[in-house]
Amino acid sequence: MTDSGAYLKPLPLINSTNRPFWSATKAGELRFPRCVNCGSWVYPIATMCQACWSDNLRWDRVTGRGSVSSWVVYHRAFDPSFAEDVPYAVVQVDLEEGMRLISNLVDVEPGDIVAGLPVEAVFDPVTPEVTLVKFRRRRDGGS
Ligand SMILES: [Zn+2]
Repeated sequence: MTDSGAYLKPLPLINSTNRPFWSATKAGELRFPRCVNCGSWVYPIATMCQACWSDNLRWDRVTGRGSVSSWVVYHRAFDPSFAEDVPYAVVQVDLEEGMRLISNLVDVEPGDIVAGLPVEAVFDPVTPEVTLVKFRRRRDGGS
């Protein structure tokens, strides 16, 4: 946030399909739809299971633990709202449950990122409606 309190970076589009995800992050939880019929996680988030086509889904909590599988460091701000952040890293995190998220790390300098870095989700409330998922180095050192 800026000193004025206005959050100027792009925000996710919240719709009826992904609203439970954003409600969960607001509560400090990471949840994804899971098929009640066959147990498959439904990711990317959708309204039907891609494995068995059931629409009987529930939003289950995941651990939030994962590892960095790829990243890129931005040295230029392609959006002016990121100008104060450069250089900053955008990371690809593979969660233990298999989902692959694109996010930022909150406590690791871009030059210190390594493949396989164990991370865990943290929650960044950027507006009253939106809490973003970011990641930090795992406190237990990973496994
Ligand atoms: Zn299924």
